[in-house]
Order: sequence, then structure tokens, then C-alpha cells
Amino acid sequence: MRFLPVFLDLQAGPVLLVGAGDLARAKLRLLAAAGARIRWYATDGDHDVSSLGPADASRIEIASDDPLTADLAGVIAVLCAGAGDVGPAMSARARAVGLPVNVMDDLAHSTFIFPAIVDRGDVVVAVGTGGSSPVVARRVRERIEAVLPARIGDLAGFIGRWRKTINGRIPEFPLRRRFWERIVDGPIGAMVLAGRPDQAEAALKDIVDPSAFAGARPSGAAEGRVTLVGAGPGDPDLLTVKALRALQDADIVFYDELVSPEVLDRARRDAARVAVGRRVGKPGIGQDAINALMIEAARSGQRAVRLKGGDPLVFGRGGEEVEALRQAGVAYSIIPGITAGLGAAAQFELPLTFRHEALRITFLTAHKASDAENVDWSTLTDKKMTVVVYMGMTAASSVRAGLLAAGRSPQTPVGVFARVTRPDAQAVVGRLDELPALVDRIDGGPAILIIGDVVAHSAPWRDSNLHQLVSYFQVAAE
Ligand code: SAH
Repeated sequence: MRFLPVFLDLQAGPVLLVGAGDLARAKLRLLAAAGARIRWYATDGDHDVSSLGPADASRIEIASDDPLTADLAGVIAVLCAGAGDVGPAMSARARAVGLPVNVMDDLAHSTFIFPAIVDRGDVVVAVGTGGSSPVVARRVRERIEAVLPARIGDLAGFIGRWRKTINGRIPEFPLRRRFWERIVDGPIGAMVLAGRPDQAEAALKDIVDPSAFAGARPSGAAEGRVTLVGAGPGDPDLLTVKALRALQDADIVFYDELVSPEVLDRARRDAARVAVGRRVGKPGIGQDAINALMIEAARSGQRAVRLKGGDPLVFGRGGEEVEALRQAGVAYSIIPGITAGLGAAAQFELPLTFRHEALRITFLTAHKASDAENVDWSTLTDKKMTVVVYMGMTAASSVRAGLLAAGRSPQTPVGVFARVTRPDAQAVVGRLDELPALVDRIDGGPAILIIGDVVAHSAPWRDSNLHQLVSYFQVAAE
């Protein structure tokens, strides 16, 4: 590490800015917005600051003497833009008096550099790459932006306001730290993050004995909770921002067989990971046992995540789990995920609805032939309905028979989409009549079936004359 991130107090004195052009103006805007006082030497004589707000502009002091002989007393940092000798010369001057200096795009003459910044009020994150790649720094910043709650700065501010009062009441440092941890991680912190600062304020005032609050053992259900999180169909970048946050916050993750390793990788490094899924042919631990594990985890004060493939409430037994948690009096919340059908639609450019052609979508499951027998196929006769079948591989023959019996044409376009959004995704398209044969061509699940005229718009169908290597294979449509 060559550059140590430190935070400069902009109240302490003016920043000296030398230079003109876009680079200098960008820094001028950054510094002005941050509240800095700026002494500006515009080397081209153009000191126009009308694009800044009046408050920001009022903190800019226009200087017209020679920056190379200017008085540096009281200045807190020197910034220099522009080609030529000015940069190195200013750098030498600043260094001679021990001032931090940045010459833009000139690492050799800089003693500090600007990080990429995440600015959430009292919470500021600086990301640096030692000057080697601002683009990488910006990508890192985007990731941090995505996981930080929008009101994290409010939370820091809230604690800042209470700090003195509480510190006076809890003299012991470890206990004090524990107090703040419990505020940040508990319901009061959640209230601030949810935009309810008044409620949080009232709840904090209600803590009669802060030391006892800090020292108390987690009081079971009040602290722990379960978050049902939709993991999406496989691609970890399809997790929602909220899902990612819950994963980063988890003490323990109970995950299904369908959850991809890449998604699981996004969980907090220290979180315990417990597989609770059923494998094909192998029984899982059973729904009651899963419920019991989640309840136990929450009651022991843990933040448990129940991670389920796709969306937790689409053929995922999320409803049953929520019922069990509610009955047990355990706090829970639900974060949706991208269900396999929607993942397939996006990946294979398959519009599930289409003007005049498809006006309805039905999601159904036909796990076994016996499930398929329970489906009332007569409700699926509408030619303008797209049918998405989950767990339908083993029941493909029954699905075909049911739809044909319902009067659907044997020529109806169908697709089988396997391991969608994963690197090894596959697609096979063809006609309803050939559905079981199409399923046989897939190298294994999970896979969904999509049936309806819209399948003819999908990329695999359109590409059916191409025989180049593609990420899926297909049966040519006749
Ligand atoms: N809750 C999940 C569905 C669980 S049922 C969701 O919303 O997606 C399990 C079935 O989902 C599988 O049998 C398969 O039909 C489908 N499925 C799940 N992930 C899939 C994937 N990546 N590709 C294709 N189908 C998938």
C-alpha cells in the first residue's frame, strides 16, 4: 500500500487549486460540493463559476497573482491541473513546506491522490487502487453503493447525536461498544434505516438502563429473525440489492439444492451454511425439520437467511415456511427473487406475453405423472395463453397428453430450458408433439418447459438455421 486513506478536514483551511480546463473544473465542483474553501488560480484567466450554486461559489476565492510565489500559509492541500512545468513546480513548492499535493494525472509529482467516493452523508467510503486504475476503483465503488443501505449515513448521524449521552452513562468501553452494536444490528437501527428516525429516537429514549441493555443476553425471538430470500435461477448478478444485503448480514444460511454455488458465495464469509435441500432420488431433511432449524436459529438470536432458488413464493414452499415462522412467533421478512420462468424468458429472448398472440401466462407444476393428472388441462385450452411448467421434465409425456386433450395444436411451439442463466444453460425448441423427445435431449435439470406461440419469437427458434456453436442446442423447427 503506497497511499494510506485518510480524511482531510475541509474546515481547517483553504485548498489551493491551480489550473483551468475540464479536469480543474471537475475538481472545483467536487471540492465545492464537499464544502471546501478553494483558492483558485485559473491559469487561462477564466474564473467563471456561474455553473455552481451561490453557496458553493461563495466559498471560492479567485486569485490572480502567480501561484508559484503565492503565500501558502494556512493552506491545507495543493491541487494542480494542466500540462507544462506548473505541476512539477507547484509540487516542489508544496513539498518544501510539507503540504499534501496532487498533480492531476501525474503520480510522480503527487503526494496524495483522489479516491473514488461513496458519499452517504456521515458515511463516506474511499476506494483507491494506488493510482493504477480509476476504472477498477469506480467498479468497486458501484458494488459498495449497491450493498450499502440508502440511509446508512442517517444511522451514523443518529448515533453521533446520542454518543455523548450514552458514553456518559456507560463508562466501560467494551460494554459501550456492545451497546452500539446492539443498536446498529437491532430494531432501533432498522427503524433509522427504514426512514423512521422519530420512532428510533423514542425507542432509544425508552432504554432506561443502557448498561443492562448492552449486557443483556439476546432475548430470543426479539433479536433473531429469518429472511426468506429468492436466490434467482443461478446467475449471482440477478440477486436483488436487498437479497445481497441480507446475505451479507446473515449469521446462518439454509439453502436449497437449487441454489447455485456462485450465489452462495455472496453470503458473508463467516456465515454458517447449511444445505437443507432434497436431491433428486434422495430425500432431504423434510419440511418440518427445516422449519424447526430456522425457528431454533432465530430463537438463539441469529440472523438466519432461508435461501431458495428462484422466487421463494413460486413453487418453493415459502408459504408453508412463513406459516411455521408466524406460528412460532419468529420475526421474518421475504425478499423476492427472479423465478426460473422469467430468467429463461430474458436469457432466451422469449416474450411471455405478446400483443395479439399471448395475453395470459400460467405457471404450473407437474412434478410427476400423478401431479399432471391433477392438473385441470381444460383451463389451458386458450391458444393465447403461454404455459410455463416447473418440475416438468419427468412428466413431459403427461403434459403433452394433457395439452393435446385440451385441444392445443400438436404444432404449438415449445421449448425446454435447462439451468437457465448459468454458464451451462441449454435450450431445445420444437413442437408440442415432440415434447418428450426434446426433454430427452437435455443434459439434466433443473429445466422448465414453456409452451405457446411466443416460443417462436425466442432466440433458439430464430437461430434454428444456424449451426455454429451456441450456448444451447435446438431441434430445427420444421
Ligand atoms: N422457486 C423456484 C422454483 C422451484 S421448483 C423458482 O421460482 O424458480 C423447481 C423447479 O424450478 C425446477 O424443477 C425447474 O423446473 C425450475 N427451475 C429452477 N431453477 C431453474 C433453472 N436455473 N433453470 C431451469 N429451470 C429451473
